[in-house]
Amino acid sequence: MDLSQKIRNIPDFPKEGILFKDITPLLRDKEALKEAIVKMADMFREHEIDYVVGIEARGFLVGTPLAIELDKGFIPIRKPGKLPDEVLNVSYQLEYGKNEIEIHKDAINKGDKILLVDDLLATGGTTLAATQMIESLGGEVVGCAFLLELDELSGREVLKNYKVKSLLIS
Ligand code: 5GP
Repeated sequence: MDLSQKIRNIPDFPKEGILFKDITPLLRDKEALKEAIVKMADMFREHEIDYVVGIEARGFLVGTPLAIELDKGFIPIRKPGKLPDEVLNVSYQLEYGKNEIEIHKDAINKGDKILLVDDLLATGGTTLAATQMIESLGGEVVGCAFLLELDELSGREVLKNYKVKSLLIS
């Protein structure tokens, strides 16, 4: 199946001038969803992985089924104030303003091998902040997996120290 046909372009969302890549048609189609998850798992099946870490919110939609497909557990990275136990917080710069993400401090042990997952790679800022958080807890990022990569942005360059694989490139 041509999975790229299942991603819809929505102009001016969430703000004017932004062309938003909407993955909900892919999620809605059972064949497309299964094919996407199996193929994303294939990109990292040969790697030694202890946990899949996904970034809120769409990283959960892709990351949890991917963890099941790879027979691993799933660890969430969330927006501030959502995780109930002690957290590590990282803030990072966006084009306009600042963003923060959090992880439970006890979610990752020293030496854990992590596959980091999100739905989409744009500037790479979110994923880079997540790698810093995982590493400061002693984890090792063995790879970063995305459903879709926006080629015109510099995400891959920002993540040049990591093995980055995307199922679709746009
Ligand atoms: P980055 O930090 O790489 O610039 O942005 C990636 C993050 O923003 C991901 O968490 C992703 O979910 C979200 N994001 C940014 N633009 C889009 C988009 O057009 N479509 C989707 N689905 N997510 C986006």
